[in-house]
Amino acid sequence: MAYYTKTMAFFTIKWRKILDRLFYGDYYCRYIWHGGHKKGLEISYRSKGKSMTVPTVNAALAISLKLPTIQNWSCHHCTNCCRHHAIEVTAEERRRILSQRWTVKDGLPTGEAVFVRQGGERYRLAHQTDGACVFLDERGLCRIHAKYGEAAKPRACRVYPYAFHPAGKKVAVSLRFSCPSVAANRGLSLGRQRDEIQRLARVVVPDGHERMPAPAVSKGKRVDWLDFMRFITALDETLTPANAPITLKLQRALYWLNLVEKSPTDGLAVNRPGDMLDFMRQAACHCLPEETPPSLSEEVPAAMMKKMFRQLTAQYARKDTVADLSSGWSGRWKLLRAAMRFTRGTGLVPALQTVFREVPFESLEQPFGVPEECEDLWTRYFRVKVQGLHFCGPAFYGWPLVEGFRSLALVFPATMWIARWLAVSQNRTKLSAEDVSQALTISDRHHGYSPIFGSFGFRGRVQTLSRMGEIPKLIRWYAR
Ligand code: SF4
Repeated sequence: MAYYTKTMAFFTIKWRKILDRLFYGDYYCRYIWHGGHKKGLEISYRSKGKSMTVPTVNAALAISLKLPTIQNWSCHHCTNCCRHHAIEVTAEERRRILSQRWTVKDGLPTGEAVFVRQGGERYRLAHQTDGACVFLDERGLCRIHAKYGEAAKPRACRVYPYAFHPAGKKVAVSLRFSCPSVAANRGLSLGRQRDEIQRLARVVVPDGHERMPAPAVSKGKRVDWLDFMRFITALDETLTPANAPITLKLQRALYWLNLVEKSPTDGLAVNRPGDMLDFMRQAACHCLPEETPPSLSEEVPAAMMKKMFRQLTAQYARKDTVADLSSGWSGRWKLLRAAMRFTRGTGLVPALQTVFREVPFESLEQPFGVPEECEDLWTRYFRVKVQGLHFCGPAFYGWPLVEGFRSLALVFPATMWIARWLAVSQNRTKLSAEDVSQALTISDRHHGYSPIFGSFGFRGRVQTLSRMGEIPKLIRWYAR
C-alpha cells in the first residue's frame, strides 16, 4: 500500500511537472540580462528549466549602449506588469525586503509570507487574491517604491520593459511590447533617456559582457561581431522603407535569409558578408517587386500547416498569470482540452483569456483588412526587435539569426489572428488599430520568454513551416 501510494505520488508530481512545462510559461523572473556567463551570484535568465547566473555587476563600469531611438517609452502606471508577472527575487533582494519589516499596518502579510518558495532556494514575491503583486497598493502604486525609492525594488521590476543583450563591445537595448505604453509608443524618446537607461544597464549587465561571442548566423555558420552586425544592419534596412508594406518587407527579409542559409560557409568569411548581402537583398527586391499579385495574396496555406500554425498561435494567445499557475489540476486539464480544440480547428475557439469570446474558427479566416495605422506599429516592432538583437542568440533560446528571424516573422500572422479574434469577440468583422496593438501586447509577452517557445517541438514547427514555404503564405493570408 505504502509502495502504491509513493508510486502514485511520484507519477502525480511527474505528471504535474510535465503538464506545467507543456502548458504554462515560466515567468519567475521578469528578465534581467540575457547572457550566458558561467560564474556569478544572481539568477538572471531561465531557459529549458535551467537557471543561468551572472557575475557581480561593477556599477562603476561605463557601458556603451545601442539604443533603438525610433522608440518612445515612459511608464503610465497601468500596473499590467505588477499584475501579470511573477517576480523571482535574488537572495540579496529577499534579505533586503525582509529587513524592511513590512507589517499588516502597511497592508501586507508579515515576514516570509510576502514570498512564495519556488523550490530549493528560489523565491518569488507573493500575490494578492486578485493576482496583483503583494506590494501593489489600492492606488496602483508600488509600496516599496513609495517608501524606499525606485532603487529598492527588485531588479526585475526596475528593468521591465527593457531587455539588454550582448552586442560585441556594446550592449543592445530592446523593449517588451507586452507593455501597452511600448506598443503605443507613448512617452519620451529612448534617445532622451540614455542616462537613465545607462544607470539601469549598470545594475544588470555583468562585467565581461564584451567577451560573449556573436550568435550563429545559421546552423554551423559563425562570424565575428563586426560581420554579425552587418546582418543586423541589412535586416534593419530591409524593414525600414516607409513606402513598402510590412508584409512585403518581411517576405523580402525571409527570402534573402533563405539564400544566406543555403550559401557555402566560406561565403560568410570576414569582409565578404557586406557584398554578399547587397547582392542577396537586390535579388529579394527583384523577385518580390512592390505589388503582391492578387493570386498570391489569396493563396490558402495548406491545411496541415494551418494546424501547426494554430498550435503555435494558441501559445501566443495564452495568459499565464500567477493565478493561472495556481489554478491546479482543473486549470491544467482545461488547457489540455483547449490545446486539442486548437489542433482540430473546428467548432468554437476556446476562450483562453477573458478578453476573448468563444467564436467559430472559420470566422477568423475571412478577409478583415489591415488598418493603415498599423504599418507604423509593425515596422517599429520589427526594427526594435532586430536592432535590440531580441530574436536570436541568448535572447531567443540560443537560436541562430536565420531561424530566430523566421520565428519573429511568425509573430505577425499569429498576432493578426489574435487581433481578428478580439474583433470577432466584439461582433466586428473589421480590424481596428487598437485590436492589433492589444493583440501584440498579448503575443509579445511570450515571445522569447515562455520556455515552450524554446522547446524542440516549437522549433520543429518553425522549421517545417519554413521548409514548406508556408511562412510567407501565412503572412499574406492573415494580412488580407
Ligand atoms: S515589487 Fe513593486 S514594482 Fe515590483 S511587481 Fe510588486 S508592486 Fe510592481
